[in-house]
Amino acid sequence: MTRTISILGATGSIGASALDLIRRERDKWPEKWKVVALTANGNAAELAKLAREFDAQIAVVGEQGALPVLREGLAGTGVEIAGGSAALCEVASRPADITIAAIVGCAGLGPTMAAIAQGNTVALANKEALVSAGEVMTAAVAKSGATLLPVDSEHNAIFQCLAGGRIEDVRWITLTASGGPFRTASLAELEAATPAQAVAHPNWDMGAKISVDSATMMNKGLEFIEAHHLFPVGLDRLRIIVHPQSIIHSMVEYRDGSTLAQLGPSDMRVPIASTLAWPERMETPCAPLNLASIGNLSFFAPDEDRFPATRLAREAVRAGGAAPAVLNAANEIAVAAFLDGQIKFTQISSLVARMLDSAIPPPPTTLDEVFGVDKEARERTEEMLESV
Ligand code: NAD
Ligand code: MG
Repeated sequence: MTRTISILGATGSIGASALDLIRRERDKWPEKWKVVALTANGNAAELAKLAREFDAQIAVVGEQGALPVLREGLAGTGVEIAGGSAALCEVASRPADITIAAIVGCAGLGPTMAAIAQGNTVALANKEALVSAGEVMTAAVAKSGATLLPVDSEHNAIFQCLAGGRIEDVRWITLTASGGPFRTASLAELEAATPAQAVAHPNWDMGAKISVDSATMMNKGLEFIEAHHLFPVGLDRLRIIVHPQSIIHSMVEYRDGSTLAQLGPSDMRVPIASTLAWPERMETPCAPLNLASIGNLSFFAPDEDRFPATRLAREAVRAGGAAPAVLNAANEIAVAAFLDGQIKFTQISSLVARMLDSAIPPPPTTLDEVFGVDKEARERTEEMLESV
């Protein structure tokens, strides 16, 4: 049976992993997948190449300025092309059996919400969208009857561990964290950390923004908020443990004392495959887990003195309302400034903390209000950047 798919953020790390799986299936069953939309921001040459290879119906760039390159790259193919944020939302709302939401940052919120509004099945990688919109997104999911399948490896693990269980029987959900490249670094080393060191993750090969988030542990903070929305067990039943090998992707402990964990290689193709095939299973090219060669799995409590980001995220989600959107916006601006050489690594978390200490706007109740909070928080963080 043919399945239709759209990939928002097709040129990124998650997009490439998803397309790799589809490419392998198409080699065996050419009719299995039909690609509706592929999107990118400015990398029109790469997008055109992918749209040609996968015979997409439409290719969309976020940046209007990238349209000429896209047009040239797709000349003579019959692939429709479009540009700009309204076009991203329009293609996201086209019918597809599954939509992979893999744009990075709050930039993915509009398209993700457009797919949700249609009641589509959305494989969600774009955690920032859920963190910012929170209840506005979960209410939209409930209203349209959309299905959210978590792509984030931890949430995908929890989703799998909850299969067949009841949420009211859950005692703990434990998110595992690798600890990132600076897990054992001193405060002085963190002060001096460079962008090149921060993006060199020991276990995972990811986009630059999430790699820096992993280094500050804000990635785990965002995931804590993401888990709160996806698995409503209550904030007191969510916790984080550092597990440097990234083999256990997360765990669910039930009230009888049974803990279920999902294990696998540190390769995003595993959780992506689980969403593509859900509720069935599909092949991936990943090597079977060889626990004897891995030898040891170790666990540590998070150190929130060196890595305050998880505490900031916990405080933001407890405060609720607009606070998580402010946290996310401040973090996006601070991470971009760090990657740009404007601020030090440790200033990422201190900027986020300053923003959370400032006046938080009233809780957003509509998507437009979420965009308003996000925009205002970005502007105020930019102003703060001037004075650090
Ligand atoms: P990436 O930077 O590699 O790719 C991002 C994609 O989004 C690209 O296709 C880019 O063109 C597009 N994009 C960026 N800005 C845009 C904008 N303003 N408008 C439209 N499109 C835009 O990022 P990634 O590592 O693939 O991560 C994507 C999302 O998945 C993030 O939210 C990340 O947190 C999440 N995620 C990633 C991984 C991973 O292993 N990479 C794991 C779990 C979750
Ligand atoms: Mg993750």
